[in-house]
Amino acid sequence: MSDELIDLALELRRHLAWQEADGSRVILADRAALKAAATTPAPARAPAPAPVATRAPAATTPAARPPAPAAAVAAAPVARRPLDEIRRELGDCQRCKLCSGRKTIVFGSGNPRAELVFVGEGPGEDEDRQGVPFVGKAGQLLTKMIEAMKFSRDDVYICNVVKCRPPDNRNPEPDEIAACEPFLKAQLASLQPKVIVALGKFASQTLLRDSTPITRLRGQWREYQGIALMPTFHPAYLLRQPDEKRVAWLDLQEVMKRFGKQSDGKKGQ
Ligand code: SF4
Repeated sequence: MSDELIDLALELRRHLAWQEADGSRVILADRAALKAAATTPAPARAPAPAPVATRAPAATTPAARPPAPAAAVAAAPVARRPLDEIRRELGDCQRCKLCSGRKTIVFGSGNPRAELVFVGEGPGEDEDRQGVPFVGKAGQLLTKMIEAMKFSRDDVYICNVVKCRPPDNRNPEPDEIAACEPFLKAQLASLQPKVIVALGKFASQTLLRDSTPITRLRGQWREYQGIALMPTFHPAYLLRQPDEKRVAWLDLQEVMKRFGKQSDGKKGQ
């Protein structure tokens, strides 16, 4: 900047207290300051931020996904394997505390190609001794129910949620059900039946992941892994509450309809 121009600027200062340059106030204080202002390059403007493009959310990699909820894990499909392979894998199972009181692991029995599968709760004393599900009094009633449905025990497959007898026939506990359930799931994946009949609270609630009481679950068609599932009362309960046989029979008649079977009105006594 020439001296003439500086003089002119200083003259203007007398009339103007300040000037603005590039939006920032620059007080023209004196000649030296004016010279410095003239020789100092204008401050580089910060580049305007690039417009933020609206991007589709990046695909979540498997590693970044949150863990699946337990219910979803439980509902995940299971590989189809032969029943004898599943039994071999179970081995002399000690995966839960029921192993300490059992005589026999009651894996399941019946037709490995069954279209109709009954799932109960757990073995009782007779089953524990014989290694076969539903052979005690409740089992005899189940056999009558099956025959009233115009099937035989050889046509169907029968198993339980837990494979070892709970002491004193108490209810199976959640940790015991959790330990044994993978084998039930593997059995059902192997069998791929057309219909599952869940006998009682534990079978129904375990397979359906639904804590609704059995009194409200029963008689309503549900689905387990794409398989039609009918919850109904457990035969042991029906022995204690024979009046409930009538509604259990209604449930079983619904199952019969799925197989194109007509009821002749007879029910398991
Ligand atoms: S109940 Fe099932 S998980 Fe528990 S010890 Fe018996 S077979 Fe194993």
